[in-house]
Amino acid sequence: MSIVSFTSWLDNALRQGYAVGYFEAWDSYSLEAVLEAAEAERSPVILGFGGMMLESTWLDRGGVKLLGALARSVGDRAQVPVSLLLNEVHTLDQARVGVQAGFNAVMLDTSDWPWPMAVEAVTKLVDIAHAHGVAVEAELGRLPDAIAEGVDRSRAALTDPQQARQFIEQTGADCLAVSIGNVHLLTNGYAPVDMTHLEAIHQQLSVPLVIHGGTSFPPSEVPRAIAAGVAKFNVGTLLKRAFLQGMRETIGAWPGNVNVHDVMGSHKATDLMTLGQERMKTKVRELMRLYGSAGRAYE
Ligand code: 13P
Repeated sequence: MSIVSFTSWLDNALRQGYAVGYFEAWDSYSLEAVLEAAEAERSPVILGFGGMMLESTWLDRGGVKLLGALARSVGDRAQVPVSLLLNEVHTLDQARVGVQAGFNAVMLDTSDWPWPMAVEAVTKLVDIAHAHGVAVEAELGRLPDAIAEGVDRSRAALTDPQQARQFIEQTGADCLAVSIGNVHLLTNGYAPVDMTHLEAIHQQLSVPLVIHGGTSFPPSEVPRAIAAGVAKFNVGTLLKRAFLQGMRETIGAWPGNVNVHDVMGSHKATDLMTLGQERMKTKVRELMRLYGSAGRAYE
């Protein structure tokens, strides 16, 4: 099965009435955890890495190539359909390197950019990516970020439905991430999403819609979101929290002395990361069932 076209699987999900999860990994352990969850659920999945939390200069110093090679290597042995996304990188150049590095979908974070700059950059990226058979996700509007004191809405902006149509017409992007009240990085409760606004955007667009901030998207609204054109949910924060919790429990149970070779990087049951992976897999599997992608791999 292995690596499949990003756009055709999103279109397929839209037609069949489910959504595919993009469960953001950060290293080989988390990437393998997502794949194992997908294989256990017989679910299509989007594997990949995001640039937003990463040091931009590291991405430039070979980070994008390294992540691409890792994603390719894990994707190539998948027993379920997988796409490989380089999510929310900082520069057009990083996205361009992502196209060459083996991802089959790329996204540039233009949420803070003025309209003409965003249109120009995404249009260029679409030209480059499509020439290599790689899809492009775009975003219009800006999600608020959760911060220690609550939610920072100062720079947030809902996606305007008419502008969304123009943006897709002008850039040719394959799918659109939207801002409808969803919040990035929020772990304390659910975001106050405006489903009527989502439906208004869907009426203007035929491309699949994407929800970022999956951690705090209300589960009860998932079916309505899918009916309103959402074919992909992005999930990050809750996975890292689950992984960290597993590591904490492992370290908490250690005797005074441990063999460092057993606990660091061994991939044995004694590895510090093993319980983290298990905790993360449980979360990914739950979400695959919620999004309706579980059991769809071989349809
Ligand atoms: P959360 O970390 O809020 O789940 O959002 C992840 C995300 O949208 C990555 O693009």
